[in-house]
Amino acid sequence: MVVLLKKNAPQQQLDSLTAWLQSMDITPHISVGSHQTIVGLVGDTSKVDMDVIRAMDIVEDVKRIQEPFKNANRKFHPEDTVIEVGGARIGGGNFCVMAGPCSVESEEQIVEVAKAVKQSGAQVLRGGAFKPRTSPYAFQGLQGDGIKLLLLAKQETGLPIVSEIMDASHIPLFEDVDIIQVGARNMQNFTLLKELGKLRKPVLLKRGLANTLQELLMSAEYIMAGGNEQVILCERGIRTFETYTRNTLDLSAIPVLHSLSHLPVIIDPSHATGQSKLVPPMALASAAAGADGLIIEVHNDPAHALCDGPQSLTPEDFHTLMQKVGGILPYAFR
Ligand code: PEP
Ligand code: MN
Repeated sequence: MVVLLKKNAPQQQLDSLTAWLQSMDITPHISVGSHQTIVGLVGDTSKVDMDVIRAMDIVEDVKRIQEPFKNANRKFHPEDTVIEVGGARIGGGNFCVMAGPCSVESEEQIVEVAKAVKQSGAQVLRGGAFKPRTSPYAFQGLQGDGIKLLLLAKQETGLPIVSEIMDASHIPLFEDVDIIQVGARNMQNFTLLKELGKLRKPVLLKRGLANTLQELLMSAEYIMAGGNEQVILCERGIRTFETYTRNTLDLSAIPVLHSLSHLPVIIDPSHATGQSKLVPPMALASAAAGADGLIIEVHNDPAHALCDGPQSLTPEDFHTLMQKVGGILPYAFR
């Protein structure tokens, strides 16, 4: 971080800036030029609030040279993080597909879908028990009972499970859930992220509807700062002016996140597009662009699904897609 001082900054104020920085273990390097005095900050500047410095009377401008995230940063951790869950490996060139219904609806439904997606090569079963719905009158999920049904499907098939948490008070219910999902709407629920940071369990962190990649990485940092390093980043489309698709899939997130971070990156083409016919092409594009995996909604009866039926693949369509994904992977860009 570099701080540019105003002309004729009083020495006394410069001294108090220096002392304040030193109290945070930052070493200030002051270079006095004929036109401008510059203070270079050396040390871990991830904890320094730029806005506080910018607001000081003697400061003209402040610039960050290094990214504000540390634990998630590839610069400090050059090798890819590989997360292992129940036999599945996510990251580091391993491709992992998570599939299942948007929401768990019944024992019959979740077990049937679990068996089908496993047969087609999915390594993790997805299923929402707590559903963040836009309308309070829409199906809210089976909640605790939904988790029990997922555990039953896990027992039947041996597939590890991923499910979304909406409130930190529900953490005890997720004890046997293999991967906890933080949905797009909760990406910046910092209280929830801090609680998940106390766990030692993989977290699938979805990008918010209108969040930058840096904000996504800062949210990952919240979880990692607590000591939980098992974070999987998920791009699920962002809101743009386009209305034909539910969201706009930001495929460039894959190489950008891979360059900035060592964490695995998976793509959700279901919520990105909102239409089942658009899911396979976007899934294939994601695999080709170097994603570490996919999370895809699959339902045994999409027309009658209680949530997100229009974007859900049938087990047959999912099977066809999985075969095509297998064909792309040897040529994927990494
Ligand atoms: C989901 O995975 O069912 C979901 C609600 O996703 P998102 O948070 O990306 O909207
Ligand atoms: Mn959904």
